[in-house]
Amino acid sequence: MSFGYGINRLLDLQETNFQVFDMDVKEDKITYTIRHREPAQYICKHCEHPHDSYHDKEWIHLQDLPLGNHKVIWKIERMRILCHCQMGYRVEKLSFKSQKHFLTQRFVDYIGYTLCTKMFTVADVSRLFNLDYGIIYKIDHDVLLRLWQNAEVPDPTHIAVDEKSYKKGHKYVTIVSDIERKMVIWVSEGNDKSSLDEFFKIIGPERCAKIQTVSKDMHKPFIASCNEHIPHAMEVADPFHVVKKLNEVLDSCRKELVESPETSKSEKKSLKQMNWVIRYKQENMDDRNQSKLNQLERLNEPLYRAYLHKESFFEFFTFESHEITKAGEFLDEWVHDAATIPMEAFKYFVGYIERHRDRILNIIKTGRSSSFSEAINRKINVLIGMAYGYHCLEYLKLKILQRCGAIGRYWTPEGA
Ligand SMILES: [Zn+2]
Repeated sequence: MSFGYGINRLLDLQETNFQVFDMDVKEDKITYTIRHREPAQYICKHCEHPHDSYHDKEWIHLQDLPLGNHKVIWKIERMRILCHCQMGYRVEKLSFKSQKHFLTQRFVDYIGYTLCTKMFTVADVSRLFNLDYGIIYKIDHDVLLRLWQNAEVPDPTHIAVDEKSYKKGHKYVTIVSDIERKMVIWVSEGNDKSSLDEFFKIIGPERCAKIQTVSKDMHKPFIASCNEHIPHAMEVADPFHVVKKLNEVLDSCRKELVESPETSKSEKKSLKQMNWVIRYKQENMDDRNQSKLNQLERLNEPLYRAYLHKESFFEFFTFESHEITKAGEFLDEWVHDAATIPMEAFKYFVGYIERHRDRILNIIKTGRSSSFSEAINRKINVLIGMAYGYHCLEYLKLKILQRCGAIGRYWTPEGA
């Protein structure tokens, strides 16, 4: 038995053509000197052909998993060989070295595993192992890409489609989720028809045929794509977007008044303070805000009415699927009433509800709630807001699929 059988086992070298030759332990660092086992064989990186002679040699340093607070360095004798499969000299194969870094493959696997536990960010892991941020970023990207390439897009029956802007609203991604599995299953670049077509083409017509409902924002290109690929699927408005739109519209109504030349200076000042009062749901309102609201009633009647209609709109979501007729009547009555509010922004919203009446009623029919969309949106906002510096769209896509989707839930080592 050669020197340090146990050490070779510890370093996972027992089945390679290398072995530990020497070991140096300093206070903060352990250095192993690693050389070829006798009889020495040098393996071609490209064709795996073993050679017993070499051209020249060099020493390289690889970093391995730390041992406690000791940094661990492998100092390795590496040969250059001439193989018939190549023109010129090439370095020999080191089965334990990671392809892209001066790290051992098992260290890279461990870093990948740590990143996939989702408890640590790239920055955390970089500090933990005292390695450059760029290296960890690259490992994260590679691991996620590998997991995604091996992952299968599941057969969805109920999907949600959403667009999300990043780069300060200049760029978009299209996000497809499986509502039953509660996970993002697809992310593609852009928010036009082809961005969604891409998903339908990937899953193919057979699986498209199995999709029963699609919940989405009333974004025209998405409607066009769904009409082409899943014309049979029931279209459901996304309640989260409807509510979001309603809140935005109330805000625009207020701005409309502030900017109007007919509004006096003192009125403008008061209206500015109403900004968040009109966002409150009445049931959550405290006395102070309630008195502000009463003030609004005196200040501007149309805005006050718009606020009350916003409030009553929420009642729509309380209908249950067997009350679909009642829900329809409620919606029609609401539209009829709300249409008399003389504010442009509000008229736009009323028109939107009218145009998409059937899709909005399908929210009640399918019993869809906004909680899933809300959760996904929140998570993605955090990801976009994080200082990853998404130079690379692909990395953002993979991160969304990891944090909100199937990949990264189960980490597997390379080749497993
Ligand atoms: Zn070769």
